[in-house]
Amino acid sequence: MIPRFRFGRTGLRTAGRSALLVALLTLLAELPAWAGSSLSAWRFNREGSLEIRTAPGIQVQAFFEEGPPGKGPRVWIDLPGAPSRTRTVPAGGVLREVRIGKPDPGTTRLVLEFQPGTRLDPRQLRLVGTARDRWRMDFQGLPSRSLLAVGEGDFDAPVRSGGWISRNTGSGFGNSGRTTSPLPLNPAGLPSVPRGRYRVVIDPGHGGPDPGAVGIGGLRETNVVLDVGLQVAQLLQARGVSVSLTRTSEVDVDLPPRVALANNIGAHLFVSLHANALSMSRPDVNGVETFYFQGGNSQRLASVIQQQLMAVSPGTPDRGARPGRFYVIRRTTMPSALAEMGFVTGSIDAPRLADPNFRRRLALAVATAILEYLNP
Ligand SMILES: [Zn+2]
Repeated sequence: MIPRFRFGRTGLRTAGRSALLVALLTLLAELPAWAGSSLSAWRFNREGSLEIRTAPGIQVQAFFEEGPPGKGPRVWIDLPGAPSRTRTVPAGGVLREVRIGKPDPGTTRLVLEFQPGTRLDPRQLRLVGTARDRWRMDFQGLPSRSLLAVGEGDFDAPVRSGGWISRNTGSGFGNSGRTTSPLPLNPAGLPSVPRGRYRVVIDPGHGGPDPGAVGIGGLRETNVVLDVGLQVAQLLQARGVSVSLTRTSEVDVDLPPRVALANNIGAHLFVSLHANALSMSRPDVNGVETFYFQGGNSQRLASVIQQQLMAVSPGTPDRGARPGRFYVIRRTTMPSALAEMGFVTGSIDAPRLADPNFRRRLALAVATAILEYLNP
């Protein structure tokens, strides 16, 4: 939490293009079309499947379209009732963006725009009803890791009889209170370094009575950075790196002991993890930034961390690797960096930071950066 600077939202786009309609996929109807807006939530889960929640018993249509040359394929789903407003949500990996549109006054259209070159087999795409108000579409053949967790709305709210209840600036679908990842560790794709050679200190900021920044939906910086920090440590340890954490639970640790730990054990590098915040009235401010105190190795460390964090954070502003004078990076005697992994008050960043799946990606990004720095 080091609030400063102001950045605008990344540009939103609306696409309108003509292309060949290749296949009409699915038409499932349990009950007559329900009057009013019917889409209440959507998300990509960690298996890479699209899940949507709707009013119960509605009729839903899904379509597929091969893009023209230079454009990617597109999948869209039409539901009864119009959204209160149309919008575009930046996505990641093979999914370029998700749009909530209104093709006519009585229809909500959820559009998935994939990157050019993405191969989808329309014969394998099915929108399957899993409950009276839930649907799922699997994208076979796409690696699930190539889809970033994005979404809007609440999958756990009680069923409502009507109305558009999804909000772009809502708390997303994450679980803001959890501090552990439900995902298995998978360090297989991480760079290698000589085992037993390096000592690293990971510093999850704040803790205990100091929650750090508190953002949308009560999202607490301390929970986010502890979860990510613990996972970074596990990932590095699996690569034979000796890791010390300045804290491993929700306790308050002052700044000098954090620095002293790193200096006393002769750590090769020190990385402090934080999440940013501005005002709750500025959900338009999002972005990732990484600080270093001095140029040279600390600057290189900050740059590679920033680069890796941005690689898993598409659509949020890149605020860069930049000089800063914060205590923990100023007083440590080894190369050090302080990463602000997103804004808990930002409409793009907060739902992601609340999502354990996204925190896993942050941890993989930080671990990858550290290993790259140690063994370029
Ligand atoms: Zn902080």
